[in-house]
Amino acid sequence: MKIKEVLRQRSSGVSFEFFPPKQPGSEVFFINVVRELAGYNPLYVSVTYGAGGSTQDRTRQALLSIKGATELNVMSHLTCIGATTASITSILEDYGANGIDNILALRGDPPRNMKGFDLTKGEFRYARDLVEFIRKRYGDYFSIGVAAYPEKHPEAPSLEKDIEYLKMKADAGADFAITQMFFDNAYYYDFMERALKHGIDIPILPGIMPITDFNKIKEFCSFCNASIPESLEKKMLPVLDSPEGIRKTGTEHVGAQCEDLIRNGVRYLHFYTLNRADTISDILDPLKDLLK
Ligand SMILES: Cc1cc2nc3c(=O)[nH]c(=O)nc-3n(C[C@H](O)[C@H](O)[C@H](O)COP(=O)(O)OP(=O)(O)OC[C@H]3O[C@@H](n4cnc5c(N)ncnc54)[C@H](O)[C@@H]3O)c2cc1C
Repeated sequence: MKIKEVLRQRSSGVSFEFFPPKQPGSEVFFINVVRELAGYNPLYVSVTYGAGGSTQDRTRQALLSIKGATELNVMSHLTCIGATTASITSILEDYGANGIDNILALRGDPPRNMKGFDLTKGEFRYARDLVEFIRKRYGDYFSIGVAAYPEKHPEAPSLEKDIEYLKMKADAGADFAITQMFFDNAYYYDFMERALKHGIDIPILPGIMPITDFNKIKEFCSFCNASIPESLEKKMLPVLDSPEGIRKTGTEHVGAQCEDLIRNGVRYLHFYTLNRADTISDILDPLKDLLK
Protein backbone atom coordinates (compact mmCIF):
# COMPACT_ATOMS: atom_id res chain seq x y z
CA MET A 1 0.00 0.00 0.00
CA LYS A 2 1.14 3.56 -0.65
CA ILE A 3 2.59 5.25 2.45
CA LYS A 4 0.47 8.33 1.78
CA GLU A 5 -2.63 6.13 2.29
CA VAL A 6 -1.14 4.31 5.29
CA LEU A 7 -0.50 7.63 7.05
CA ARG A 8 -4.07 8.69 6.31
CA GLN A 9 -5.50 5.48 7.70
CA ARG A 10 -3.32 4.94 10.78
CA SER A 11 -3.17 7.50 13.52
CA SER A 12 0.11 6.18 14.98
CA GLY A 13 2.85 3.67 14.34
CA VAL A 14 6.50 2.97 13.70
CA SER A 15 8.53 2.33 10.57
CA PHE A 16 11.85 0.59 10.09
CA GLU A 17 14.77 1.32 7.81
CA PHE A 18 17.24 -1.38 6.76
CA PHE A 19 20.33 -1.48 4.62
CA PRO A 20 20.56 -4.26 2.04
CA PRO A 21 22.54 -7.29 3.27
CA LYS A 22 26.08 -7.29 1.96
CA GLN A 23 27.78 -10.51 2.94
CA PRO A 24 26.88 -13.59 0.90
CA GLY A 25 24.69 -15.77 3.10
CA SER A 26 23.45 -12.89 5.28
CA GLU A 27 20.12 -12.72 3.45
CA VAL A 28 18.52 -15.26 5.81
CA PHE A 29 19.67 -13.30 8.86
CA PHE A 30 18.33 -10.12 7.23
CA ILE A 31 14.90 -11.51 6.50
CA ASN A 32 14.67 -12.95 10.03
CA VAL A 33 15.36 -9.47 11.45
CA VAL A 34 12.62 -8.03 9.22
CA ARG A 35 10.21 -10.80 10.29
CA GLU A 36 10.96 -10.18 13.95
CA LEU A 37 10.30 -6.45 13.61
CA ALA A 38 7.16 -7.15 11.57
CA GLY A 39 5.65 -8.05 14.95
CA TYR A 40 5.43 -4.30 15.68
CA ASN A 41 3.02 -3.92 12.75
CA PRO A 42 5.08 -1.20 11.08
CA LEU A 43 3.53 1.40 8.81
CA TYR A 44 6.17 0.43 6.24
CA VAL A 45 9.76 -0.75 6.02
CA SER A 46 12.40 0.85 3.81
CA VAL A 47 15.71 -0.20 2.27
CA THR A 48 18.58 2.22 1.73
CA TYR A 49 20.26 2.82 -1.62
CA GLY A 50 23.98 3.49 -2.07
CA ALA A 51 24.65 6.84 -3.73
CA GLY A 52 25.61 6.47 -7.35
CA GLY A 53 23.65 3.21 -7.54
CA SER A 54 26.32 1.25 -5.67
CA THR A 55 23.70 -0.99 -4.01
CA GLN A 56 21.09 -0.88 -6.78
CA ASP A 57 20.84 -4.66 -7.23
CA ARG A 58 21.11 -5.47 -3.52
CA THR A 59 18.48 -2.85 -2.62
CA ARG A 60 16.12 -4.30 -5.22
CA GLN A 61 16.79 -7.85 -4.05
CA ALA A 62 16.20 -6.92 -0.40
CA LEU A 63 12.89 -5.23 -1.28
CA LEU A 64 11.74 -8.25 -3.27
CA SER A 65 12.78 -10.61 -0.46
CA ILE A 66 10.74 -8.59 2.06
CA LYS A 67 7.75 -8.59 -0.29
CA GLY A 68 8.12 -12.34 -0.80
CA ALA A 69 8.40 -13.15 2.91
CA THR A 70 5.94 -10.70 4.49
CA GLU A 71 2.87 -8.57 3.81
CA LEU A 72 4.69 -5.38 4.78
CA ASN A 73 4.51 -2.13 2.81
CA VAL A 74 7.94 -1.49 1.34
CA MET A 75 9.75 1.67 0.28
CA SER A 76 12.94 1.99 -1.71
CA HIS A 77 15.37 4.82 -1.04
CA LEU A 78 16.58 6.22 -4.35
CA THR A 79 19.38 8.74 -4.91
CA CYS A 80 19.68 10.87 -8.03
CA ILE A 81 23.20 12.25 -7.84
CA GLY A 82 25.09 11.15 -10.95
CA ALA A 83 21.96 9.43 -12.35
CA THR A 84 20.33 10.04 -15.73
CA THR A 85 16.63 10.21 -16.53
CA ALA A 86 17.14 6.94 -18.44
CA SER A 87 18.70 5.13 -15.45
CA ILE A 88 16.04 6.45 -13.03
CA THR A 89 13.25 5.54 -15.46
CA SER A 90 14.59 2.02 -15.80
CA ILE A 91 14.64 1.56 -12.00
CA LEU A 92 11.15 3.02 -11.56
CA GLU A 93 9.69 0.92 -14.38
CA ASP A 94 11.11 -2.18 -12.74
CA TYR A 95 9.76 -1.13 -9.31
CA GLY A 96 6.36 -0.46 -10.86
CA ALA A 97 6.33 -3.90 -12.46
CA ASN A 98 7.15 -5.45 -9.06
CA GLY A 99 4.57 -3.51 -7.05
CA ILE A 100 7.12 -1.32 -5.24
CA ASP A 101 5.23 1.97 -5.12
CA ASN A 102 6.95 3.97 -2.36
CA ILE A 103 10.13 5.94 -2.99
CA LEU A 104 12.28 8.01 -0.62
CA ALA A 105 13.62 10.52 -3.14
CA LEU A 106 17.12 11.67 -2.21
CA ARG A 107 20.00 13.53 -3.72
CA GLY A 108 22.66 11.33 -2.08
CA ASP A 109 26.29 12.20 -1.51
CA PRO A 110 29.24 11.66 -3.81
CA PRO A 111 31.12 8.50 -2.77
CA ARG A 112 34.01 9.48 -0.47
CA ASN A 113 36.57 7.98 -2.85
CA MET A 114 35.34 10.22 -5.70
CA LYS A 115 37.29 13.39 -5.02
CA GLY A 116 36.43 16.26 -7.34
CA PHE A 117 32.92 14.91 -8.11
CA ASP A 118 30.99 17.81 -9.60
CA LEU A 119 27.56 18.03 -7.97
CA THR A 120 26.42 20.58 -10.53
CA LYS A 121 26.87 18.22 -13.47
CA GLY A 122 24.32 15.53 -14.20
CA GLU A 123 20.64 15.54 -14.99
CA PHE A 124 19.47 15.81 -11.38
CA ARG A 125 21.04 18.31 -9.03
CA TYR A 126 18.73 18.22 -6.01
CA ALA A 127 16.27 15.73 -4.56
CA ARG A 128 13.54 18.14 -5.60
CA ASP A 129 14.44 17.44 -9.26
CA LEU A 130 13.87 13.74 -8.64
CA VAL A 131 10.52 14.36 -6.92
CA GLU A 132 9.45 16.57 -9.83
CA PHE A 133 10.56 13.99 -12.38
CA ILE A 134 8.70 11.12 -10.69
CA ARG A 135 5.50 13.15 -10.34
CA LYS A 136 5.58 14.38 -13.95
CA ARG A 137 6.27 10.97 -15.39
CA TYR A 138 4.24 8.70 -13.09
CA GLY A 139 1.55 10.94 -11.61
CA ASP A 140 0.33 9.45 -8.34
CA TYR A 141 1.60 5.92 -8.95
CA PHE A 142 4.41 6.37 -6.39
CA SER A 143 4.06 7.74 -2.89
CA ILE A 144 7.13 9.91 -2.38
CA GLY A 145 9.05 10.73 0.79
CA VAL A 146 11.98 13.13 1.18
CA ALA A 147 14.68 13.83 3.77
CA ALA A 148 14.50 16.68 6.30
CA TYR A 149 17.13 18.07 8.65
CA PRO A 150 16.14 19.43 12.10
CA GLU A 151 19.68 20.78 12.65
CA LYS A 152 20.07 21.75 8.94
CA HIS A 153 21.82 19.85 6.17
CA PRO A 154 25.61 20.32 6.42
CA GLU A 155 25.79 22.10 3.04
CA ALA A 156 22.84 24.42 3.65
CA PRO A 157 23.81 28.06 4.25
CA SER A 158 21.22 28.53 7.02
CA LEU A 159 18.31 26.87 8.83
CA GLU A 160 16.00 29.26 7.00
CA LYS A 161 17.28 28.34 3.53
CA ASP A 162 17.23 24.62 4.32
CA ILE A 163 13.57 24.75 5.28
CA GLU A 164 12.76 26.75 2.13
CA TYR A 165 14.31 23.89 0.14
CA LEU A 166 12.21 21.37 2.07
CA LYS A 167 9.12 23.40 1.18
CA MET A 168 10.19 23.19 -2.47
CA LYS A 169 10.36 19.39 -2.18
CA ALA A 170 6.87 19.32 -0.63
CA ASP A 171 5.53 21.63 -3.37
CA ALA A 172 7.11 19.41 -6.03
CA GLY A 173 4.93 16.53 -4.78
CA ALA A 174 6.50 14.88 -1.73
CA ASP A 175 3.84 13.21 0.45
CA PHE A 176 5.88 13.00 3.64
CA ALA A 177 9.38 13.55 5.02
CA ILE A 178 11.69 11.66 7.38
CA THR A 179 14.24 13.51 9.48
CA GLN A 180 17.93 12.99 9.94
CA MET A 181 18.75 11.53 13.37
CA PHE A 182 18.79 13.88 16.34
CA PHE A 183 19.45 13.19 20.01
CA ASP A 184 17.84 16.26 21.53
CA ASN A 185 14.11 16.54 20.84
CA ALA A 186 14.26 20.33 21.16
CA TYR A 187 15.71 20.40 17.62
CA TYR A 188 12.75 18.42 16.26
CA TYR A 189 10.12 20.55 18.03
CA ASP A 190 11.78 23.76 16.86
CA PHE A 191 12.04 22.37 13.33
CA MET A 192 8.36 21.38 13.28
CA GLU A 193 7.38 24.90 14.33
CA ARG A 194 9.48 26.42 11.58
CA ALA A 195 8.11 23.93 9.04
CA LEU A 196 4.56 24.90 9.98
CA LYS A 197 5.41 28.60 9.65
CA HIS A 198 6.70 27.89 6.14
CA GLY A 199 3.42 26.20 5.24
CA ILE A 200 4.86 22.67 5.11
CA ASP A 201 1.89 20.49 5.95
CA ILE A 202 3.10 17.00 5.01
CA PRO A 203 3.79 14.53 7.85
CA ILE A 204 7.42 14.73 9.02
CA LEU A 205 8.48 11.51 10.75
CA PRO A 206 11.29 11.84 13.29
CA GLY A 207 14.25 9.60 12.42
CA ILE A 208 15.34 7.69 15.52
CA MET A 209 18.84 6.23 15.74
CA PRO A 210 19.58 3.57 18.36
CA ILE A 211 22.97 3.89 20.07
CA THR A 212 25.05 0.75 20.28
CA ASP A 213 28.47 2.04 19.25
CA PHE A 214 28.92 5.55 20.67
CA ASN A 215 32.13 6.33 18.75
CA LYS A 216 30.51 5.40 15.45
CA ILE A 217 27.46 7.53 16.27
CA LYS A 218 29.72 10.50 17.01
CA GLU A 219 31.47 9.97 13.69
CA PHE A 220 28.09 9.81 11.81
CA CYS A 221 26.97 12.92 13.67
CA SER A 222 30.02 14.88 12.59
CA PHE A 223 29.30 14.04 8.92
CA CYS A 224 25.63 14.85 9.03
CA ASN A 225 25.52 17.82 11.38
CA ALA A 226 23.64 16.16 14.23
CA SER A 227 24.70 17.14 17.72
CA ILE A 228 25.21 14.98 20.79
CA PRO A 229 23.80 16.61 23.93
CA GLU A 230 26.30 17.26 26.71
CA SER A 231 24.07 15.32 29.12
CA LEU A 232 24.42 12.19 26.94
CA GLU A 233 28.20 12.62 26.68
CA LYS A 234 28.33 12.82 30.49
CA LYS A 235 26.21 9.69 30.95
CA MET A 236 28.41 7.80 28.46
CA LEU A 237 31.71 8.81 30.03
CA PRO A 238 31.79 6.20 32.84
CA VAL A 239 30.71 3.32 30.53
CA LEU A 240 32.89 3.97 27.49
CA ASP A 241 34.94 0.81 28.11
CA SER A 242 31.87 -1.40 28.28
CA PRO A 243 29.90 -2.20 25.10
CA GLU A 244 27.04 -3.43 27.31
CA GLY A 245 27.14 -0.20 29.34
CA ILE A 246 27.08 1.91 26.15
CA ARG A 247 24.16 -0.05 24.80
CA LYS A 248 22.20 0.23 28.07
CA THR A 249 22.87 3.98 28.42
CA GLY A 250 22.13 4.53 24.72
CA THR A 251 18.86 2.60 24.92
CA GLU A 252 17.79 4.56 28.00
CA HIS A 253 18.50 7.85 26.23
CA VAL A 254 16.76 6.94 22.97
CA GLY A 255 13.85 5.30 24.83
CA ALA A 256 13.35 8.50 26.85
CA GLN A 257 13.53 10.51 23.61
CA CYS A 258 10.79 8.35 22.04
CA GLU A 259 8.62 8.55 25.15
CA ASP A 260 8.92 12.34 25.17
CA LEU A 261 8.04 12.53 21.47
CA ILE A 262 4.94 10.36 21.93
CA ARG A 263 3.82 12.29 25.05
CA ASN A 264 4.17 15.48 22.99
CA GLY A 265 1.77 14.19 20.37
CA VAL A 266 4.19 12.77 17.80
CA ARG A 267 2.28 9.96 16.12
CA TYR A 268 4.87 8.22 13.98
CA LEU A 269 8.48 7.18 14.67
CA HIS A 270 10.92 6.06 11.97
CA PHE A 271 13.76 3.84 13.22
CA TYR A 272 17.17 3.45 11.64
CA THR A 273 17.42 -0.21 12.63
CA LEU A 274 21.02 -0.84 11.48
CA ASN A 275 19.59 -4.30 10.70
CA ARG A 276 19.29 -5.25 14.38
CA ALA A 277 16.02 -6.30 15.94
CA ASP A 278 17.26 -6.56 19.54
CA THR A 279 18.14 -2.88 20.04
CA ILE A 280 14.86 -1.78 18.49
CA SER A 281 12.89 -4.16 20.74
CA ASP A 282 14.77 -2.86 23.79
CA ILE A 283 13.59 0.65 22.89
CA LEU A 284 10.05 -0.21 21.80
CA ASP A 285 8.93 -2.84 24.31
CA PRO A 286 8.78 -0.48 27.32
CA LEU A 287 6.72 1.93 25.15
CA LYS A 288 4.09 -0.66 24.13
CA ASP A 289 1.25 0.90 26.12
CA LEU A 290 2.05 4.41 24.90
CA LEU A 291 2.17 3.24 21.29
CA LYS A 292 -1.33 1.65 21.34
C1 LIG B 1 15.81 9.58 6.30
C2 LIG B 1 17.06 9.65 5.44
C3 LIG B 1 17.39 8.56 4.64
C4 LIG B 1 18.53 8.60 3.84
N1 LIG B 1 18.82 7.50 3.05
C5 LIG B 1 19.90 7.54 2.24
C6 LIG B 1 20.19 6.45 1.34
O1 LIG B 1 19.48 5.44 1.30
N2 LIG B 1 21.28 6.57 0.55
C7 LIG B 1 22.10 7.67 0.55
O2 LIG B 1 23.06 7.71 -0.21
N3 LIG B 1 21.85 8.72 1.37
C8 LIG B 1 20.78 8.70 2.21
N4 LIG B 1 20.50 9.76 3.03
C9 LIG B 1 21.45 10.90 3.06
C10 LIG B 1 21.20 11.96 1.98
O3 LIG B 1 21.39 11.42 0.69
C11 LIG B 1 22.19 13.12 2.22
O4 LIG B 1 21.87 13.77 3.42
C12 LIG B 1 22.39 14.09 1.08
O5 LIG B 1 23.53 14.91 1.39
C13 LIG B 1 21.25 15.07 0.85
O6 LIG B 1 20.17 14.44 0.32
P1 LIG B 1 18.76 15.22 0.21
O7 LIG B 1 17.86 14.32 -0.50
O8 LIG B 1 18.37 15.76 1.52
O9 LIG B 1 19.22 16.42 -0.76
P2 LIG B 1 18.56 17.81 -1.17
O10 LIG B 1 17.20 17.98 -0.65
O11 LIG B 1 18.78 17.92 -2.63
O12 LIG B 1 19.51 18.85 -0.40
C14 LIG B 1 20.92 18.79 -0.56
C15 LIG B 1 21.52 20.14 -0.21
O13 LIG B 1 21.15 21.09 -1.21
C16 LIG B 1 20.45 22.19 -0.63
N5 LIG B 1 19.40 22.55 -1.61
C17 LIG B 1 18.26 21.88 -1.87
N6 LIG B 1 17.58 22.50 -2.86
C18 LIG B 1 18.33 23.57 -3.22
C19 LIG B 1 18.17 24.59 -4.20
N7 LIG B 1 17.10 24.67 -5.00
N8 LIG B 1 19.15 25.55 -4.31
C20 LIG B 1 20.25 25.53 -3.52
N9 LIG B 1 20.45 24.56 -2.57
C21 LIG B 1 19.50 23.60 -2.43
C22 LIG B 1 19.91 21.69 0.70
O14 LIG B 1 19.75 22.73 1.65
C23 LIG B 1 21.02 20.73 1.12
O15 LIG B 1 22.09 21.44 1.69
C24 LIG B 1 19.37 9.75 3.85
C25 LIG B 1 19.05 10.84 4.67
C26 LIG B 1 17.90 10.81 5.46
C27 LIG B 1 17.56 11.98 6.33
